[in-house]
Amino acid sequence: MNDIRQKAVDEAFCSSCGEIIKKEAEICVKCGVRQRKHHIAVSDVSASWLTLLLLSFFLGGFGADRFYVGKIGTGILKLITAGGFGVWWLIDLITILVGKFKDKDGNYIPREY
Ligand SMILES: [Zn+2]
Repeated sequence: MNDIRQKAVDEAFCSSCGEIIKKEAEICVKCGVRQRKHHIAVSDVSASWLTLLLLSFFLGGFGADRFYVGKIGTGILKLITAGGFGVWWLIDLITILVGKFKDKDGNYIPREY
């Protein structure tokens, strides 16, 4: 009955085998499966290319596209510079259009069509 115990505040369940592991752990010590980050609201998996494109087009001047993929730092920078005075807004929009926009983990947000 050693396996049955409450998980602590800084622990989480492995997304693969259900073993209790540290929240910060990237790889489960039991099954070796890499963990998805559940505590981050936006992940590269849930980010939609179309949503990103629309956010960038309409709200890119406020950094909304960067906030959406978790790039908070550059999102704020983009917000206070009004999308890099339009230049940054355009560059990001084109980057998203060609499917080369990256989330904060460096993963591309691929085009959906
Ligand atoms: Zn596991």
